[in-house]
Amino acid sequence: MQNSAYIGRFAPTPSGYLHFGSLVAAVASYLDARSVGGRWLLRMEDLDPPREVTGAQAAILDTLERYGLHWDGELVRQSDRHGEYAALVQRLFDQGLAYACICSRKQLEGSGGIYPGHCRNAGHAGHDAAIRLRVPELTYRFSDRVQGEYSQHLGKEVGDFVIRRRDGLYAYQLAVVLDDAWQGVNNVVRGADLLDSTPRQLYLQELLGFSQPRYLHVPLIIQPDGHKLGKSYRSPPLPGDQATPLLIRALRALGQPAPDELADASAEELLAWSARHWDAALVPRTRNLAESQLR
Ligand code: GLU
Ligand code: ZN
Repeated sequence: MQNSAYIGRFAPTPSGYLHFGSLVAAVASYLDARSVGGRWLLRMEDLDPPREVTGAQAAILDTLERYGLHWDGELVRQSDRHGEYAALVQRLFDQGLAYACICSRKQLEGSGGIYPGHCRNAGHAGHDAAIRLRVPELTYRFSDRVQGEYSQHLGKEVGDFVIRRRDGLYAYQLAVVLDDAWQGVNNVVRGADLLDSTPRQLYLQELLGFSQPRYLHVPLIIQPDGHKLGKSYRSPPLPGDQATPLLIRALRALGQPAPDELADASAEELLAWSARHWDAALVPRTRNLAESQLR
């Protein structure tokens, strides 16, 4: 059954290899899509060349293939889309919805990460400056399919945020919203480290007239040393010859059944079985999960 209505995606950042936490997110988004016959796209979020690890892109694709996580259509690379991001930033700037910020790092110290608004009405020119999006003094809320109701006051809790850095690199928040809409993504399944990015993305969607996808944020995996396996975590590539046992462990992290009989199945067989039995309601309703509980 092919359901053309559901479009999901996996969007890794090549600042490192896939780790167990990213495998859990990939498996969840893959199964949520395949369980309803939906499409599953792959987008490489290579917006930040200085932070990219050499060989990570190829290693990520290789791991996905070995783990049976086959995507639909052509891989999209954000590095190919600078023209689109530039045009959008220019439009927001011209409309006065965004402005240039020349604050030094030092000037921003002590504001707890919330931009204090020095440049808000200064009318600085856009070149050689960061570009910030003005946020409304409003609470944005959504209902996550696993984490439940989530809300955030953009003015008080986030502040005007950067959409293009001073060095010319585009921000994740801007690119993810534009690309999800452009690719027709209507279901976002990803790690809970991005829960607090979602209200910024909802604001951008509203501003740009895009429809809001459904969201499902899966628990972030915590290592025995207390390390969160989020996007900034560096670890070696997942072993190519351990696909089935690690997929079974990922299924366990997601609260899904994984019968012992499937221990000898191929990655593809295991995922096909799991897609038929996928139940999002079983995913643990927590933002963090200790890896040690899964063995
Ligand atoms: N590229 C982001 C990451 O690796 C994920 C973006 C998303 O799923 O929205 O953490
Ligand atoms: Zn400023």
